[in-house]
Amino acid sequence: MNLTKQNDSESKTKEPLRDSSGRIALSGLTLDEMKEFVKGLGEKAFRADQIHSWIYAKWAKSFDEMTNLSAEFREKLKEVACISALEIATLKVSKDGTRKYLFRLPDGKLVESVLMCFQDRDTLSACVSSQVGCAVGCTFCATGYLGFMRNLSSQEIVDQVLSIQRESGKRVANLVYMGQGEPLLNTENVVQSINTMINSVGIGGRHITVSTSGIIPGIERLREVNLPVTLALSLHAPDKATREEVVPITKKWPIPDLIDALRDYVDTTGRRVTIEYVLLKDVTDRPDQAKQLADLVRDLHCNINLIPYNPTYAEDGTAYYGRPSRDAQLRFKELAERSGKTVTIRLERGTDIDAACGQLHNAYKDGNA
Ligand code: SAH
Ligand code: SF4
Repeated sequence: MNLTKQNDSESKTKEPLRDSSGRIALSGLTLDEMKEFVKGLGEKAFRADQIHSWIYAKWAKSFDEMTNLSAEFREKLKEVACISALEIATLKVSKDGTRKYLFRLPDGKLVESVLMCFQDRDTLSACVSSQVGCAVGCTFCATGYLGFMRNLSSQEIVDQVLSIQRESGKRVANLVYMGQGEPLLNTENVVQSINTMINSVGIGGRHITVSTSGIIPGIERLREVNLPVTLALSLHAPDKATREEVVPITKKWPIPDLIDALRDYVDTTGRRVTIEYVLLKDVTDRPDQAKQLADLVRDLHCNINLIPYNPTYAEDGTAYYGRPSRDAQLRFKELAERSGKTVTIRLERGTDIDAACGQLHNAYKDGNA
């Protein structure tokens, strides 16, 4: 884990994203940025409103569709701009309908996003990545084994959703920052992307969840900007020894400090937080841990979401952990409910295409195609 190196690389420049031919990508730009862009081309500001609407409301795939722009301006746009700089490298569809997209970024790096449709809901949920790889190195997570490569820009995060909508023809109504990477080690870009998701893509803040492994400065920053989103903490173990083993950053930001940070977050925002908890057989699923979890969060305004482990594999093909039986999951749930909180067991999607939580890794190992 090299968090220092990671923090230094947090991108501060707000240069627009360009495709491999150097053309400016319009997906993911804010309206103001689009105004800047059209001004640079000598066009009136209202042209930006028109382009913004084509990109965000009509999910245009080409400039030729933008029929309220003159043919001459469309030709100009084709020369200097592109709709998106993300290329769909592969798309896998699960038998449950889940779609896993592998996107190639302009520098050749690859990231994954997932579109989930739950039979009991008519709305669609997308799961986006915030980094290429991850520096945190949780021992049960495939992304953790990749290591950290780079942060994604706000545009690259927003364009994952736009690309999914363009490809699937379906509107993303719920969004979770639970793909590859640790969102709160890329906080500024993530915050900017949330603003664009709310203001341009049109996803309600209440339908957006940011999940963190427990980066306290990031939680404080999110509290400061006070966006109307849900914060989820990947707690995974209530005791120091186990959490230090499975989520190594616990040594830097210990459990009591984390719970304090969440309490501050709730006090400032008035919003309930989510506690995520991965059930690893014989490691985090013991009855004494369920009781300890209940005690730990009793005074916190939260829900608990249990995530039965989805297998991730070492080089030799063996899974790192075991998955608790359904009985063991229910027993843990019952004990955790002694906290008085709502406890749910996450419905898994797309396991057959490695699209479930923690399985986003790859047949590619170094983040390149
Ligand atoms: N980095 C962030 C968000 C991405 S992971 C975080 O850790 O919170 C989204 C969720 O999936 C986290 O709660 C994560 O711990 C969980 N997860 C990771 N690997 C998993 C696996 N193999 N099985 C089940 N859940 C897993
Ligand atoms: Fe990173 Fe989250 Fe995976 Fe941990 S669980 S390695 S923080 S992506």
